[in-house]
Amino acid sequence: MYDNFQSDFLVIGSGIAGLNFALQVSKYGTVAIVTKKELMESNSNYAQGGIAAVLDKHDSFKSHIKDTLTTGCFINDKKAVEVLVKNAPKQIEHLINVGVGFSRENGKLCLTKEGGHSERRIAYVNDATGKEIERALLHQIRHHKNISTFESHIAFDLLIKNKKCIGALVFDTEKNEILQFSAKATIIATGGAGQVYSRNCNPKIATGDGVAMAASIGAKIRDMEFIQFHPTALALKNKPAFLISETVRGEDGILKNKNGKEFMDKYHKLHNLAPRDIVSRAIFAEMKKNQTNHVFLDIRHKGSAYIKKRFPYIFEKLWWFGIKMDKNMIPVAPAVHYICGGIHTDTNGETNIPGLYAFGEVAHTGVHGANRLASNSLLECLVFSDRAIRSVAKYIENELQLPTYTPHTHKVVKPTTVIFNQIKNKKRSIQKMMWNNVGIVREEKKMKKTLKKLLNLEIEIEKIFNKGISAPIIELRNINRVAILITKAALERKESIGCHYRLS
Ligand SMILES: Cc1cc2nc3c(=O)[nH]c(=O)nc-3n(C[C@H](O)[C@H](O)[C@H](O)COP(=O)(O)OP(=O)(O)OC[C@H]3O[C@@H](n4cnc5c(N)ncnc54)[C@H](O)[C@@H]3O)c2cc1C
Repeated sequence: MYDNFQSDFLVIGSGIAGLNFALQVSKYGTVAIVTKKELMESNSNYAQGGIAAVLDKHDSFKSHIKDTLTTGCFINDKKAVEVLVKNAPKQIEHLINVGVGFSRENGKLCLTKEGGHSERRIAYVNDATGKEIERALLHQIRHHKNISTFESHIAFDLLIKNKKCIGALVFDTEKNEILQFSAKATIIATGGAGQVYSRNCNPKIATGDGVAMAASIGAKIRDMEFIQFHPTALALKNKPAFLISETVRGEDGILKNKNGKEFMDKYHKLHNLAPRDIVSRAIFAEMKKNQTNHVFLDIRHKGSAYIKKRFPYIFEKLWWFGIKMDKNMIPVAPAVHYICGGIHTDTNGETNIPGLYAFGEVAHTGVHGANRLASNSLLECLVFSDRAIRSVAKYIENELQLPTYTPHTHKVVKPTTVIFNQIKNKKRSIQKMMWNNVGIVREEKKMKKTLKKLLNLEIEIEKIFNKGISAPIIELRNINRVAILITKAALERKESIGCHYRLS
């Protein structure tokens, strides 16, 4: 039993960013990893396509940098992009050493292509790359003597003492207890915020907690308006928006309208492999024109044997939904996928708050600019978590003592059915508003109206939160805070660029 757990490093989140950091930093001190659900449950675990890196002799850093900048509409941080691209091959090598079994042919790494890439440079593990990386990292972490893991522990507030971050308050959702995790350095690796929108392809954990917590203690937050929509998520009534990887188009999958006609040649010179924002808006326009709620993705021409071997995970998932991807066209429509903005950091994971670090999807290094290039996000998790190790280890050299316990005044209350339903309804209404009014195509008037409603909701949510803490109210509070940050940023940016597209 503990009500104050102390460690040198507190890592919030067990996706690839958090795990990769924890494993490597453990040689410098003790590590606590707190994670909301099970260790494997993360966006990382669902990543299908792969990791971008210059690995072929015909490819070059220059080309990967150019593709990243072009997709990001040239408002990326160029220095961060260089760091990302130039460190990529080293990270693939690191993963191989950790035990990741990349797909190979005749011993050579297989490389595929995705939207916006001018070369085949995506290393992958069939169509379940993230799962294999998580498995390999967790295999090493589970019995590591310097690393303690805490599942079903949700961090909800960051602790500040003498202007430094000294840990977090954490709610144990199994025991219904509040605990303090104090640490010399606190690392936010909480991933994305897809759950802010009603149609998204993120797991339930993606409620933007890290950004919400960091913003509330004054961390700089940037580029929240750049929400990336994945063009091809399954669009079947009452079924989840299951993602159909861009590598399906990379391996010649074709987008077709309701009459079975190709249409991407009308929208971009790269056709089906144009950057995601362009493909998403093209699909949106086709759906509007034909008054349908989806278009089709067709890969039948590649043949049954090839499809089953190359996309075993997607094939099986679709089969459960009643679609045979070797015989049927797949109904698809855009869904929220990734957030380009987040907690602003330098290329060593440092935020503007001493003792607070961030990397992975939750962070904003500027690498993505206005739109993320496909398969650059697993890469960002690896590159920036790796670079942060030295800077965090150096920081704790001067922090001689572990921070001590400071009492809190929060109450724990199991929500009654009435409260629970209130929380559920508020969450649904935020998700719907954000989808309709701060979505693929945005208008000033609708966004202003949405912001007003969100700010009113904030007061109501805070009242429920102060009555008693539970996991659903923590997440609702964060979803609303992040929705406010996105809407404010979208209102502030007057021009259309990348993922941010305004009609007015
Ligand atoms: C379906 C899908 C397919 C994708 N395919 C690709 C791909 O092929 N290539 C690519 O580069 N990218 C892909 N992405 C994006 C990529 O997977 C993510 O950007 C990346 O995995 C994020 O990793 P992360 O470690 O930053 O966060 P995550 O993997 O999301 O991990 C976040 C962790 O934080 C925990 N957490 C969150 N809040 C709290 C809290 N308050 N307290 C405690 N724990 C918390 C979560 O439980 C989770 O363990 C895909 C994403 C999805 C959803």
